[in-house]
Amino acid sequence: MLQPILSESDLKRLQSYLGNAQHIVVTCHVSPDGDALGSLLAFTHFLKRKGKKVTPIVPNLFPDFLKWLPGADEVRIYDRNEAELDPLIAGADLFVWTDFNEPSRMDKLERPVMSHPAPKLMFDHHLHPVDDCVLTVSRQEMCSTCEILFRVLLQWDGIENISTEEAACLYTGMMTDTGGFTYNSTRSEIYESIGLLLSRGIDKDRIYRNIFYAYSADRFRLMGYLLYVKMKVFPQYNAALMTLTREERKRFSNKNGDTEGFVNLPLQISGMRLSVFLREDTEKEAIRVSLRSVDDFPCNRMAAEFFNGGGHLNASGGELQCSMDEAVATVQEAIKKYAPLLKGKK
Ligand code: 5GP
Ligand code: MN
Repeated sequence: MLQPILSESDLKRLQSYLGNAQHIVVTCHVSPDGDALGSLLAFTHFLKRKGKKVTPIVPNLFPDFLKWLPGADEVRIYDRNEAELDPLIAGADLFVWTDFNEPSRMDKLERPVMSHPAPKLMFDHHLHPVDDCVLTVSRQEMCSTCEILFRVLLQWDGIENISTEEAACLYTGMMTDTGGFTYNSTRSEIYESIGLLLSRGIDKDRIYRNIFYAYSADRFRLMGYLLYVKMKVFPQYNAALMTLTREERKRFSNKNGDTEGFVNLPLQISGMRLSVFLREDTEKEAIRVSLRSVDDFPCNRMAAEFFNGGGHLNASGGELQCSMDEAVATVQEAIKKYAPLLKGKK
């Protein structure tokens, strides 16, 4: 039996903030993934169902394989429409943050949101949430923000009121943040939640195909190229590294967001505990870093110490301002420093 996620008083406060708001802006983190966009859209549908005026705004473009999500065509993209969206944001009287824990994760959207006096509500599962929100629903043990939101909607409204669209968005975020329920997904509540979501008429097999079988030929070839040509395995450290330059991305018509999931691939090699993926950003001078691990290897510690970033134990990211060669050297240094933890267990 799923227990209520919010205390009675937090539920009342949530209901009163949403009840009093006339125009709510829902937003998520930069480079939205399935959980960010799924939770943003689920909340948007929910608020519309409650008769609210809602504007969903993402900081920048989301990947094509999320375009099928119900409501995705109504999402506004901030960095493409700043002049038009600034007045809209200025007219909001409540902000809802989904799937991020600190304002800088909104990238350019941070400025108009944080300079606005309206209250902010946070729904998130990342470590170390900031203290800027009037209500922070942060549950780090949960697999995804979508799981948190599902539990909130369930508690508020009961399963029979959750729409198929809401359920599809919520399921998507739970599925993508756990790699199709292959990591960070052993709590039995997750499967109880899935059972309930299925009762709302979603087709989970189709959702899986929409997300994971959505390669373009170019993206599929790039994956092969990365694994065959670019992957370096450090067997003595149970670690692997892949790199991707801007020139290579161009060759495979690859943009920011189109590399989602590639970092997980080397973990399919037996005994691998850490995978690092470096890629030159297609929109600014920077190298994006993604880290994935299995078991208890702390990617987030490595990301904070070496890559100006952070994240979860098994999935973290960061950014470097240097050449690719220097970034590779930094990775090698990090792997050496963490050798005792990497060699730990098979
Ligand atoms: P990804 O590899 O998919 O870009 O990021 C994986 C996870 O790492 C994200 O869900 C987020 O928790 C965290 N993350 C990614 N980039 C950053 C960053 O620049 N700073 C921090 N603090 N966390 C990040
Ligand atoms: Mn998430």
